[in-house]
Amino acid sequence: MNEYDSNRIYDLVSRIGFIKTDNKKNADCFILNTCHIRDKSTEKVYHEIGRVKKNFKNLKKPLVIISGCVAQAESEEMIKREPFIDMVIGPQSYHKIVDLILKYQRKKQKIIETEFDVVKKFDELQKVPNLQNKISSYVTIQEGCDKFCHFCVVPYTRGPEYSRPIQQIIDEVNKLVNRGVREVILIGQNVNAYNFYLNNKNYKLSSIIKELNKIEKLKRIRFTTSHPKDMSEDLINCYKECDKLMPILHLPIQSGSDKILKLMNRKHNRKYYLLIMDKLKKANIDIKISSDFIVGYPSESEKDFVDTINLIKDVGFINSYSFIFSPRPGTPAAERELNSIDINKKRLKILQDTLEEFQLKENKHNVQKYCEVLVENKLDGQEKYFGRTKYMTPVKFESNSCNPGEIVNVKIISFNKNGLFGLHEIKKNKAA
Ligand code: SF4
Repeated sequence: MNEYDSNRIYDLVSRIGFIKTDNKKNADCFILNTCHIRDKSTEKVYHEIGRVKKNFKNLKKPLVIISGCVAQAESEEMIKREPFIDMVIGPQSYHKIVDLILKYQRKKQKIIETEFDVVKKFDELQKVPNLQNKISSYVTIQEGCDKFCHFCVVPYTRGPEYSRPIQQIIDEVNKLVNRGVREVILIGQNVNAYNFYLNNKNYKLSSIIKELNKIEKLKRIRFTTSHPKDMSEDLINCYKECDKLMPILHLPIQSGSDKILKLMNRKHNRKYYLLIMDKLKKANIDIKISSDFIVGYPSESEKDFVDTINLIKDVGFINSYSFIFSPRPGTPAAERELNSIDINKKRLKILQDTLEEFQLKENKHNVQKYCEVLVENKLDGQEKYFGRTKYMTPVKFESNSCNPGEIVNVKIISFNKNGLFGLHEIKKNKAA
């Protein structure tokens, strides 16, 4: 979501003549769009500002803006602790950035803007073309969360669940497709909690997917991140009914132990999760699942951990993420006693090795086979391209006859744990 937000922030400030620069010493303005989901994120922001300060020691001070979830969580504390910061803007207020910059330039007074103004935000953003698109582009359809998992800061930094009007989303996707986008990844903190009412009609995520499936030039649809509780029948059926919806679902479970899931306030248990897996397989036998895992949640016993490993073996997840529990200030889990860090590290290694085994097996399975790859870009200075399979697996391949935006059949020659390598038909005597 931060990638989408950063692009939209750039769309906004471009309107007053700002352009990106790689020359950091030349910048008039630094905008640091921050994430608060992991431990030490706040400290990383201060370290980065320290670097900027050093670079500008004998130069004119740039305008320094902190946006995103660290800005929301820390608010005025940031300016108190680091006076080099001029402006702090929360993730639901960044649509005001141009006005705030102009106000700062007039008054030269520090600004803190952390209102939850999400409705206005998307109304305003709708007026500004989304120009930072690639072949595969994100589109935010939902923000915020009402689930309050005990380890997570999102409900506090992004606010309550909000769903953008469906027509606004479809218009944005149509515009992106007209600019060459061929894949959209619908995003939200709880993307499958999307719930929009208009004229007594209720629209869900499945309604959006069905509408987007009709857009001729759009080739692929994905969505992330979902909560198991909101995997409704209509959404599961999309995997049967919508050919452009890719057969991979990122569905975080976090732990395979019911005791830990309860302590996490996840609002689902292992049995329910596995029931969803069955329903998904019935809808589309080719579907594969990726997930998130937290290792070493407070009170996690050896048995709880083994439950998680067994679940991984039962489901056979691919492309998953795993982390050691990190207490986020202000969340209920932060009050709990931490597990031994050494045990946590050992468990993480076992868990990641187990996930890697499945990933390697999955990648190996493709060798000497043809995969449909959506070409995203040409690699610099080479006759090689980068793209992704239906399952999001990265593929680097040789070709002299393909273009970004096309779906091509690539013969997979080799693999590693991170991706695939292959060959697309090489025409030796390419027409001049
Ligand atoms: S559902 Fe996701 S975003 Fe919401 S509190 Fe839980 S982990 Fe955080």
